[in-house]
Amino acid sequence: MNAVDVIVTKRDGGRLTEQEIRWFVQAYTDGAIADEQAAALLMAVFLHGMSDDELNIWTDAMIESGERTDLSFLKKPTVDKHSTGGVGDKVSLILAPLVAACGGVDPMLSGRGLGHTGGTLDKLEAIPGFTVALDPAEWQKVLQEVGCVMLAAGEELAPADRKMYALRDVTGTVESIPLIASSIMSKKIASGTDHLVLDVKIGDGAFLPDITLARQLAETMVTLGESHGVKTSALITDMDQPLGRTAGNGLEVIEAVETLQGNGPSDLVEITIALVEEMLDIAGIENDPRAVLSSGQAFEKWKQMVAGQHGDPDAEIALARHKAVVRAQASGYLQKLPARAIGVAAWRLGAGRSRKEDPVSSTAGVVCLKKVGDEISVGEPLLELHADDPALFDGARAAIGNSIVVGPEPLEPRPLIVERIRA
Ligand code: URA
Repeated sequence: MNAVDVIVTKRDGGRLTEQEIRWFVQAYTDGAIADEQAAALLMAVFLHGMSDDELNIWTDAMIESGERTDLSFLKKPTVDKHSTGGVGDKVSLILAPLVAACGGVDPMLSGRGLGHTGGTLDKLEAIPGFTVALDPAEWQKVLQEVGCVMLAAGEELAPADRKMYALRDVTGTVESIPLIASSIMSKKIASGTDHLVLDVKIGDGAFLPDITLARQLAETMVTLGESHGVKTSALITDMDQPLGRTAGNGLEVIEAVETLQGNGPSDLVEITIALVEEMLDIAGIENDPRAVLSSGQAFEKWKQMVAGQHGDPDAEIALARHKAVVRAQASGYLQKLPARAIGVAAWRLGAGRSRKEDPVSSTAGVVCLKKVGDEISVGEPLLELHADDPALFDGARAAIGNSIVVGPEPLEPRPLIVERIRA
């Protein structure tokens, strides 16, 4: 095999054979193909796409580049969720213990935030002592005894994706449906879950703002999951405004705990319940997540999981030393609370990172005091900015600029659950 021949075939819009795909992915993972050659192939795929067969084999080769976790020691159905990322999206923190309390097992592998979107691992690390890197004997014990665990993916999980994702990040090849779908699904399939629900976000703060592309991505991922023996479905959900009241690591943990205690904001509760209902349904588990959440059983699971991952479930989550307020510039109804601008503001306050290696602040972030549809008066506080360094407030204010819209009419926000996609 020759890397240049493979690149040229795709560059000219041809189809790659199974042998070519498997060889290229493995050789790149092993370091036998140079970054510039892999980058050229990724750009060719970005421009010409892949057929269903090519994508299926490509995804399979990425899974095969590492190990597929064996969860057969668990005697209950495993079911996981993956979100394409958003602002204030702390759903996983509530959902995994809720699934466990409903009788499922959620072996959740999570990611870190990049750009304006937050990451579950960064949020969990705001809990004193919490670790996202347990050794296999430890996480298996937590998973078996509690029913959920939230971990960073190990080196052995789809290493081809680790290399390719880093390359895509610096070569303008991230926003490609086959490349996103194979990247997400190779990791989720390799994680060993039997069932998977995808939360594909649309709107201002989403990765793919447009419904047509989001639908295509959701359908592609559902097909890939099913063809690899993972029962998969997707909900397309709204990400026009931040989810819940907070964006920022520690702030989101506090809000998730309040939700587990029965005091969550309605949008966060609704989306979490809808996703858990979908998860239980595809996994064949009969239970009522709303009743289980109200009963406090999910909160008990949360505390057990936090303790099992070396965290202190009773510890206070630290708050930032400084706060500033963004006020309404007019009276009327809040019509637009743009998720992306607020995500960028939280990022500039220190909650996010620009490069994978950067540290994040656990205290920085934004609290949304109002949501779309609320009536407001000029001068009323709309947002609270939190930072340890007050010099960061100007950058956050600049990110928000004039993007918040107040108008004379109350606008109905888009429904939270836009569409459901099954095989
Ligand atoms: N998340 C991933 O894991 N991969 C992508 O390509 C995009 C988002």
